Amino acid sequence: MKNLVDISLFTLDKHTTSQGYRLLCPITDRVFWSKVVWCRLNIPKHSFMMWLAVLKRLKTRDRLLRFQVIDNADCLLCSRNIESVDHLFFECPYSTDCLEKIKQWLNWSMRTTLLSRIIRWIGKAKISKFKKNLFSAVIAALVYQIWHNRNCKLWLSTLESTDVAVLKTKDAVKYRIMCMWPRNVTKRDIDWFNAL
Ligand SMILES: [Zn+2]
Repeated sequence: MKNLVDISLFTLDKHTTSQGYRLLCPITDRVFWSKVVWCRLNIPKHSFMMWLAVLKRLKTRDRLLRFQVIDNADCLLCSRNIESVDHLFFECPYSTDCLEKIKQWLNWSMRTTLLSRIIRWIGKAKISKFKKNLFSAVIAALVYQIWHNRNCKLWLSTLESTDVAVLKTKDAVKYRIMCMWPRNVTKRDIDWFNAL
């Protein structure tokens, strides 16, 4: 009888633990963006910002207009379109220019300017794991930089050039990767990175 009680307690315990784990980590293993958003080479604050962007939880002006917090949702970077997550990342002319410069830097041939499609592209690309992780870190850094610059325009009325934004993005990613250098990087990828 004692054994039966022990077994039932053990089973109950195991069941509860697995349910608890699922509650704590509800979707990260099942969504297409998790590996890109939570990539080890991403700077954590960049991952967090990209996560908010992917979930469309950033307080973009289209949302603020919907909640009647503001009465004009024009993009602060271009003043020509409604500011939304899709517009900022990266359909706004300012953001598209940054993305183009980043792609030229990496010799990255990819046509889309939509964040969700870029993330899918990285996930499916037939490239080395090192390159995938570096592309993830660059996109996360660029999302962070563009949102930061948008906030500077809002609060300080200043907007740095796309050249400066791209330079900061490149420097942040290169420094992070040198600090977090992964194992088993091929000679070819090492040479490619050193030439960046
Ligand atoms: Zn814009």
